[in-house]
Amino acid sequence: MLSLYARIMRRIVSIIIAGLTLTFVACAKPMPAQTEYVLGTLCTINLYEKGKPELYRTLFSRLREIEDHMSVNKDDTELDRVNAAAGREAVTVHADVIDVLSAALHYAELSGGAFDPTVGPLVKLWGIGTDNARVPAPEEINKVLPLINWKDVELDQAQRTVFLKRPGMALDLGAIAKGYAADEIARILKKNQIERAIIDLGGNVLAYGQKQGGKNWRIGVQDPAGERGAYVGILEIKNKTMVTSGVYERFLIKDGVRYHHILSTVDGYPVQNKLLSVTIVTDRSIDADGLSTTVFALGYEKGKALLESLGNAEGIFIFDDGTLRATAGVRSSFTVTSERYRWAD
Ligand code: ADP
Ligand code: MG
Repeated sequence: MLSLYARIMRRIVSIIIAGLTLTFVACAKPMPAQTEYVLGTLCTINLYEKGKPELYRTLFSRLREIEDHMSVNKDDTELDRVNAAAGREAVTVHADVIDVLSAALHYAELSGGAFDPTVGPLVKLWGIGTDNARVPAPEEINKVLPLINWKDVELDQAQRTVFLKRPGMALDLGAIAKGYAADEIARILKKNQIERAIIDLGGNVLAYGQKQGGKNWRIGVQDPAGERGAYVGILEIKNKTMVTSGVYERFLIKDGVRYHHILSTVDGYPVQNKLLSVTIVTDRSIDADGLSTTVFALGYEKGKALLESLGNAEGIFIFDDGTLRATAGVRSSFTVTSERYRWAD
């Protein structure tokens, strides 16, 4: 017969073994990709073999923090305070807002205002992607157009303040915030010595590191005229980011006419230039996101010229007649897989 002491010891040992087994199983089996609704879209992060609950939690809370600072889909963000103080006073904001706004102003300058972060009043008027989506009357559009001018944004980097010079002006960073967020996730991954991950913030994809065995990641480019998840083709990249702007992401159909969400700062209507989508491939996601909207707004000729002048950004253009064009550096990395599309040249 075992003594009481021996029985207790045996019990303790078996608990320790069970604990160790559990820990071992937890270590051996990484968590699968995690998806949450943040920044107005579905965000998925896949950490592969390093998928630990704690790291996933850190990453998603960083995404929510960025959303709290600058989303237009949420009330009472720092951006709201800047907008509410338009024409009155400068507002102190978080460094996130300063970083994103300065990148946005850079793309506004590069595009001669085709991309403009002060597009807020116009975006609000159309409400595309919200419950209030509607086609505004021409008079309403003409009333807000004079409020759109990136040159009337005063950004003080040192004081961390933003001032919109005229009452009624409003910032909208929706065209670039997700790119910044993806870069932030990559920065945290680097700090945690993570080797590989796919960060997909609603189609804004950052392929961090390379696949096991050094292979390229294969990323589908959404068919702008097809079902969600239907691809035009496959892009092979490593340690790069790929961001698409297109007519399919958010739109409104009224009297049989489709209105999408990238707006012309000249006439106030959705940009119409035969493009269905533009995919940008770069090193930094904030640049890819800024450029995807910028190049879409500029159209093929001017957009392509801009990419070529920058040198470190590539683009894939999809047109409404089913043709595709691309800058030289990305052409061989993209394979068309859909029968509906073909290269124009
Ligand atoms: P998504 O956010 O759907 O991935 P984009 O990055 O192209 O697509 O951003 C589109 C968003 O950018 C719009 O929903 C709107 O908030 C904003 N926007 C629309 N037109 C412009 C413009 N001309 N310049 C800057 N931002 C714009
Ligand atoms: Mg964009």
